[in-house]
Amino acid sequence: MTIARGRVLVTGGVGFIGSHLCERLLNDGFHVLCVDNYYSSTKDNIAHLLDNPRFEAIRHDVTFPLYVEVDEIYHLACPASPIHYQRDPVQTTKTAVHGSINMLGLAKRTGAKILLTSTSEVYGDPLVHPQSEDYWGNVNPIGPRACYDEGKRAAETLFFDYHRQHGLQIKVVRLFNTYGPRMHPHDGRVVSNFVVSALKELPLTVYGQGQQTRSFCYIDDLIEGLLKMMGSQPEVTGPINLGNPGEFTISDLADLVIEQTGTSAGIEYLPLPQDDPVRRQPDITRAMSTLGWQPSVPLAEGLARTIEYFRQTIS
Ligand code: UDP
Repeated sequence: MTIARGRVLVTGGVGFIGSHLCERLLNDGFHVLCVDNYYSSTKDNIAHLLDNPRFEAIRHDVTFPLYVEVDEIYHLACPASPIHYQRDPVQTTKTAVHGSINMLGLAKRTGAKILLTSTSEVYGDPLVHPQSEDYWGNVNPIGPRACYDEGKRAAETLFFDYHRQHGLQIKVVRLFNTYGPRMHPHDGRVVSNFVVSALKELPLTVYGQGQQTRSFCYIDDLIEGLLKMMGSQPEVTGPINLGNPGEFTISDLADLVIEQTGTSAGIEYLPLPQDDPVRRQPDITRAMSTLGWQPSVPLAEGLARTIEYFRQTIS
């Protein structure tokens, strides 16, 4: 059987990042097979793609095998927001581990190139700052974030073992916090929480004293990085960090959201969740030198676009 050229599978394709990736791949002329179990995503994200003849959406849970014919696989599927991945932690680990085994098996059978979206969570609560790819991390293996952190670490292990043992062409990227239009308004992430609260004139919920830091990458920059990684030379396996190195405290972010929305509801301080990483900032030297990639959208600009999106979509 001949397979169509440029047929790409995106697992988790209905999610925030997945839907932007599907859209970009379609714009670039690929045939896109989007797989999702809709656990933490909504069909609205792909509604505008459904009429495209090169787009196909399948409801499927990656913890079960999938038999399709594809040339490239972007394996994103896994709930990524703490409130989602902690709701059913056993299923989260299964998704990360069994899901990766199934997709690697598919890549092995079809000869497809396969990219894993791993996470900055593999660094845990990092003791090295900023985090470069050769830092092995500081993860609590039995805490509430472990199902996701250790699940993704095991997924990385599987990718590299399939590469060494079976010669698969793998690409592993570690995504740092990403934001933008189509974030789920209730997924508990800090950017969506702050923006949605501000637009509803509710107080912004800052956990702890707000001195913990994160680095926020705008979605368009991230998608560019994913495509560059997939298109990189065969010997480029990663892991490669993809994120915006600009580091902000959560209080800085709250101030920016207050300034840009003009809300007068103020800030409410709530307890810091267990194992919440204190600092996080990607070292993107490897992405710059290997992929020629670096983000270009500053936080203030990406935030303005995100606020505009939520203004139009939330009631
Ligand atoms: N956070 C916060 N208020 C919120 C949601 C999150 O202060 O309403 C904090 C959270 O404690 C963490 C940071 O913002 O320190 C980023 O949280 P998020 O869930 O967005 O991502 P992650 O912790 O996975 O980086």
